[in-house]
Amino acid sequence: MHRFFIEPGQVCGDEVTLSPEQAHQIARVLRLSSGARICILDGRGRESEAVLMEISPRCATARAVEWRPAAGEPRAHVALALGLLKGEKMDWAVQKTTEVGASEILPLQCARSVVRVDAERAAGKVERWQRIAREAAEQCRRGRVPVVHPPLPLDSVLARAAGFDRVLLADEAETVPLSAALFPAPSATPPRVLLLVGPEGSFAPEEAAAARAAGALSVSLGPRVLRAETAALVGTALLLHHLEGE
Ligand code: SAH
Repeated sequence: MHRFFIEPGQVCGDEVTLSPEQAHQIARVLRLSSGARICILDGRGRESEAVLMEISPRCATARAVEWRPAAGEPRAHVALALGLLKGEKMDWAVQKTTEVGASEILPLQCARSVVRVDAERAAGKVERWQRIAREAAEQCRRGRVPVVHPPLPLDSVLARAAGFDRVLLADEAETVPLSAALFPAPSATPPRVLLLVGPEGSFAPEEAAAARAAGALSVSLGPRVLRAETAALVGTALLLHHLEGE
């Protein structure tokens, strides 16, 4: 069943009005007719099957059948701060970490990032990453689209450390495994963890020191040195595995 994220303004009671782009997709690309079923996601963790009503290439409506929690949405909140990588690698990291369950992606402008994104190009980049995250979230049955932030300096990300139960620094020179840095937190509220992964050239020593000073714990992702985008994926997957037993 095809899945579509909708905005709160698109729902009125059981009636859902798809956006013009979604109507185009439904009418022209998927060639669905009225009576066909789609799945709609409210972007806040709920999903519903919906029966298509009126369809035209610019407008489509559907009736929601029954809202329920989206099965694919993780309970734990994993925020991934990743050193900016070259074009395709960043796209890949956004797509894959969305699939494995990252809730927030913070591209980091690091001292050793090969890529620099100036303010002018940042908006276009963020829009592209958000579209990739949205498509991946629809495809993999998430209930929310991860938030992708504009590129930020490390300091701005570390300033948010207090909003997390744990801040972890993925460090290829560390031997302490990630699991050891997560004491069991039988809390009623979903755990929130911020994971910092460096760019191709790693974090500069002063960046690693700043992260530790802000309370980050260094963790290993294993005895092999991974490429940054691999480390982002492995780190996110391991975190969710330990936090949710996935
Ligand atoms: N250029 C470095 C490797 C950088 S890897 C070298 O050749 O030694 C890029 C980032 O991935 C690192 O900053 C780190 O955050 C993460 N990383 C890679 N392998 C890792 C591992 N085994 N454990 C923890 N973090 C790792």
